[in-house]
Amino acid sequence: MSAALLRRIVIVGGGSAGWMTAAALSSLLDPKDVTITLVESDAIGTVGVGEATIPDILAFNQMLGVSEAEFMAATQATFKLGIEFVDWGAKGERYIHPFGQHGVDMQGIDFHQYWLRARDDGAREPIEAYSLCALAAQAGRFALPDPNPRSVLSQIRYAYHFDATLYARFLRRYAEARGVVRVEGIVGDVRQGADGTIAGLTLRDGRTVEGDFFFDCTGFRALLLGETLSTGFVDWSHWLPCDTALAVPSEHAGPPTPYTRATARDAGWQWRIPTQRRVGNGHIYASAFQSEAVARETLLANLDASALGDPRRIAFKAGCREAFWRGNCVAIGLAAGFLEPLESTSIYLIQEGISRFISLFPRGDIPDILRTEYNRHMRTEFEQVRDFIVLHYAATTRDDTPFWRYCRTMTLPDTLLHKIELFRETGRVFRYNDELFARPSWVAVMLGQGIVPAACDPIVATLPAGDVAHSLASMRQAMAAAVERMPRHADFLSRYCPAVAA
Ligand SMILES: Cc1cc2nc3c(=O)[nH]c(=O)nc-3n(C[C@H](O)[C@H](O)[C@H](O)COP(=O)(O)OP(=O)(O)OC[C@H]3O[C@@H](n4cnc5c(N)ncnc54)[C@H](O)[C@@H]3O)c2cc1C
Repeated sequence: MSAALLRRIVIVGGGSAGWMTAAALSSLLDPKDVTITLVESDAIGTVGVGEATIPDILAFNQMLGVSEAEFMAATQATFKLGIEFVDWGAKGERYIHPFGQHGVDMQGIDFHQYWLRARDDGAREPIEAYSLCALAAQAGRFALPDPNPRSVLSQIRYAYHFDATLYARFLRRYAEARGVVRVEGIVGDVRQGADGTIAGLTLRDGRTVEGDFFFDCTGFRALLLGETLSTGFVDWSHWLPCDTALAVPSEHAGPPTPYTRATARDAGWQWRIPTQRRVGNGHIYASAFQSEAVARETLLANLDASALGDPRRIAFKAGCREAFWRGNCVAIGLAAGFLEPLESTSIYLIQEGISRFISLFPRGDIPDILRTEYNRHMRTEFEQVRDFIVLHYAATTRDDTPFWRYCRTMTLPDTLLHKIELFRETGRVFRYNDELFARPSWVAVMLGQGIVPAACDPIVATLPAGDVAHSLASMRQAMAAAVERMPRHADFLSRYCPAVAA
């Protein structure tokens, strides 16, 4: 390799990770300067269940310059305003983790401190009564955010539910139109140069693919970074013991809800993700605590409508690679690591891996410091997402099954323990290093699962009770009135982005 620009980029794998990488790079690089080749095998197939996303995906689509309505129609997408958690903190309880904020911060003090003060004064509305996204989700309504920051509707934040297979297909069309060359075939051998970097691939039929830089998007197998470059795996299954998913689509039982539902079960949880044409369902469970037969029965007994096929089993382990970039190879997607989809973060982590790579785009001779920076950043991202997901299991009063007794008593990562204790004792939450989940998300989940701070902010505690109650009542009324004016989610979809046939 020379110190010149990388000339030949090779992506191995054509799931969401591979095609997102191909689309992003092809939107930036001129094929006259840099060729991009993507190798995938229809015979191996993809995981194809990544269906719920978080608002950061809007930035990815904007980077590609794709029309939202076109993307949504092609992927049969619906809007998502948050996640409803059922039976997590205690059986019979539910709460919404909405996108966006609760209420409005006042005098530089976080809104939830005012909510805690009102609670001390006897108010009983849940904090989600002050979230426009939560209220709209519950009412089955949706509107795009108002660009006017004075409008209540400017508080809307949203993401999508979509069909992951159609998403990869959509991105493939995009990338191929920008010069990406797709090679169909199974990689049989990964060839290394004398310095240990990857030199090329040999397909099972004998064809070869050469490259200067390689993306390992081969899914759980991690063929390049894991198998060839022997990069170890950091196992977090002691904090996230679920290791199996059973996934099955079903028919709709009513109009698609603009939110994901995650219902806790005896040894894990079940997702419900509505797209325009069907509902994605899955049961994630810990095989050490439940048999596949019981998990399957639980899933099928808890669908809203008839299953469209047999459940598909996917085994996984929570954790990430010890390094994400070694030599001339970066792993993106499941090859980089996996955290269960409780907060819909995998596609975000793919996006983050791609954007960080682009921001560090190397020349042919890659200085070690680039790899160090990339690995440091991605490890922090994975750990921060991990902590937020573990919070849902740890903050529970459930002790009705061995699984929940394990979760509520497990030793937590120090970083998470600190956050929980700081909130429990003082009501404070801070966001470190631009972490993905900001204060409102931590507050929503901690309050939702029964961690209530001992006291509110001492400055807010001195305010006249009537003033606090009046401010909160005005916010509630403004939000409720705004939700009334929003169109029904199903009507909005049918006008804005009706699904096109797959
Ligand atoms: C149960 C479950 C639920 C999920 N839900 C969500 C969700 O709601 N939201 C979210 O954001 N994410 C979710 N995800 C994650 C999401 O599905 C994945 O992150 C995403 O699909 C990326 O997968 P991938 O492209 O890395 O791997 P895969 O989809 O497995 O693709 C791997 C690719 O590599 C190719 N390949 C492998 N070996 C070879 C070889 N030897 N030769 C040639 N090609 C090869 C395959 O053909 C395939 O094209 C979920 C994941 C699971 C397991």
